[in-house]
Amino acid sequence: MTRIIGITGGIGSGKSTLSDRFRAHGIPVIDADAIARTALTPASDCFADATALFGPDALRPDGTADRAYIAAQVFADPKKREALNGIIHPYVLSEMLRRSKACTEPLAVWDVPLLFESGFDAFCACTVAVLCKEEIRIARVTERDGADEQNTRARIKAQITDEERERLASYTIRNEGSLEAFLFEADALIERIRKELE
Ligand code: ADP
Repeated sequence: MTRIIGITGGIGSGKSTLSDRFRAHGIPVIDADAIARTALTPASDCFADATALFGPDALRPDGTADRAYIAAQVFADPKKREALNGIIHPYVLSEMLRRSKACTEPLAVWDVPLLFESGFDAFCACTVAVLCKEEIRIARVTERDGADEQNTRARIKAQITDEERERLASYTIRNEGSLEAFLFEADALIERIRKELE
């Protein structure tokens, strides 16, 4: 059975960069955010339940979801947001488990921004937290997405802190220096995890 390495970290910490490095080492990556983005497509298992929360106006004439309408409803009503998350999270988990079961490699990565908050860490053989000071993370996200600083700070506040990640994770890796230094340390960590899990 494939053993799962859960990767997490705050927004802009370098989580995707680390996941890419695992991929470069031949370890497949299952991306929770990418799966969550498919939740509101008609082919997903949760499409009917998720759109039903918002009534007939959530569907466009062609049967696809009206994402702008749903986003506005969720923005205006925290209860609706919770209800939608209550449908999307189990869908993401079941899809991640399904893909992991279908995986023929000994190891696979789960890239999950809210790994500990969601409890998905319970399915992982080990967990890795990418740690990085908030100011550096904000600068990176601003450069990557052209994101508004206040918006990024609000998103950081909705996540657990690096102190908590450090306490909960099996391994931690800091990403506050150059990209080269991070990749060098990442390679050593991947080898170490391979030895311990395979
Ligand atoms: P996350 O997935 O945690 O949000 P990313 O891996 O996407 O973070 O990294 C955020 C941005 O910062 C990306 O554009 C990435 O290329 C860049 N980045 C990551 N690590 C470094 C680093 N050590 N030095 C400079 N830029 C970095």
